[in-house]
Amino acid sequence: MAVHYAQFKDIDITAYDVLVVGCGFAGAVVARQMAQQGEKNVLIIEKRAQIAGNMYDEVDDAGILIHKYGPHIFHTKEGRVFQYLRFFSGFTAYQHRVQADIHGTYMPVPFNKTSMEIAFGEEKAARLIDKLVETFGDECKVTITQLRAQDDPELKEIADYVYNNVFLYYTQKQWGLTPDEVDPSVVARVPVHISRDDRYFQDDFQGMPAQGYTKLFENLLDDEHITVCLNTDAESVFDLVFQGPEEDAQLKEIRVKDVPFTGPIVYTGPLDELFLSRFGRLPYRSLNFEFETLDQDHFLPCGTVNYTVSEDYTRITEFKYLNPCNSPKTTIMREYSCSYEDPTKQTPYYAIINDENNAHYQRYLRLTQSLPNFYPLGRLAEYRYYNMDVIVSRALDLSAELLKED
Ligand code: FAD
Ligand code: UDP
Repeated sequence: MAVHYAQFKDIDITAYDVLVVGCGFAGAVVARQMAQQGEKNVLIIEKRAQIAGNMYDEVDDAGILIHKYGPHIFHTKEGRVFQYLRFFSGFTAYQHRVQADIHGTYMPVPFNKTSMEIAFGEEKAARLIDKLVETFGDECKVTITQLRAQDDPELKEIADYVYNNVFLYYTQKQWGLTPDEVDPSVVARVPVHISRDDRYFQDDFQGMPAQGYTKLFENLLDDEHITVCLNTDAESVFDLVFQGPEEDAQLKEIRVKDVPFTGPIVYTGPLDELFLSRFGRLPYRSLNFEFETLDQDHFLPCGTVNYTVSEDYTRITEFKYLNPCNSPKTTIMREYSCSYEDPTKQTPYYAIINDENNAHYQRYLRLTQSLPNFYPLGRLAEYRYYNMDVIVSRALDLSAELLKED
């Protein structure tokens, strides 16, 4: 058994009940559910030369499993999501740890009681921790925005330290904006921990697919009702028919190979690109990844080091921590963030969330709302900052809804 691949030119579109654009978690989970629960014939078109979306991984020349589109660590609060994925892959018990390199000194991120001791020395840290506990309670989390809103001079000192040494430069590199300029939900992803828990995520369910994400996806897609066409871009195979000639006219139908496709179309790519960016491109941040294999056992003290006050790159990840192996070498990856200017050469990785961009996105979304069989789903199509588990959860919900309507 394996994934059923086909060339788009050989496809008889009338043989399919569901059309999915994009083969990340959003597309692949919907495809699996529709195929297995509903016995629907599902066609997935994917513009890349491989499945698994941003989760795609492969073994490099040093025998190390690397993530081609950025480090992906699985974590979720939702037992249902973890159970679902565990059907397709075993998971290791990996728990991600991150340190910030602050002028050559490593300290845990999220910033916690241990970081406080490294930054301020034990005696002063003890006083500051007492103040934090008194104000917010013990064993809890507080966002940098909440911390900066405090009037107490000692709390202000902590807030200034964390803001200037953990958030300011990293956020400027990552977003081209200061922490005050990004949506508060973005920096709230990494709160200060009033605890000694040095894990990056506290979710109940965490780990890495034991044989990697690509293998997990191969199992997910291994169903006789699912066909995958790689190297196939929706824009080049969709014929969009609008209700009128005006720019804001809504979609009437989507034709594929000259036939209106009337079954569900689950679209997981960027919505603006589907409409050839007629209202201007939605802003995204893109990334460049620089891989390097070193002739040494390990390079970093933990899975990822964030460079929060220096360097042009934001972080380095060492893959051996994520999926341990016996190679005498190690492969690391530096991430450089940049603006997204050229869809032919770059990948849109992060939606830039703010009111103006959300309104811009809504203008594109309105074009689709007249088409009852069109479902935008996923981090790109919904223009949101979603983690993998949320996407899997939303894909399970959408499939259940589609099967109920059937
Ligand atoms: P994607 O995985 O992006 O899949 C969309 C697919 O659609 C892609 O394969 C794309 O090629 C294809 N596509 C796009 N347009 C078209 C088109 N026009 N025609 C055909 N195909 C098209 N989440 C976590 O939970 N943990 C992490 O540690 C984590 N780390 C991350 C690190 C980075 C650098 C980034 C950018 C994201 C990270 N995420 C992480 C988030 C995770 O990548 C997303 O939640 C996940 O990819 C969402 O799945 P998706 O299917 O919506 O999108
Ligand atoms: N962030 C930061 N310094 C850090 C870690 C995170 O400034 O050491 C900020 C930064 O703006 C980043 C956001 O918090 O974009 C969210 O971080 P996360 O690690 O969740 O980002 P992701 O892994 O999704 O890129």
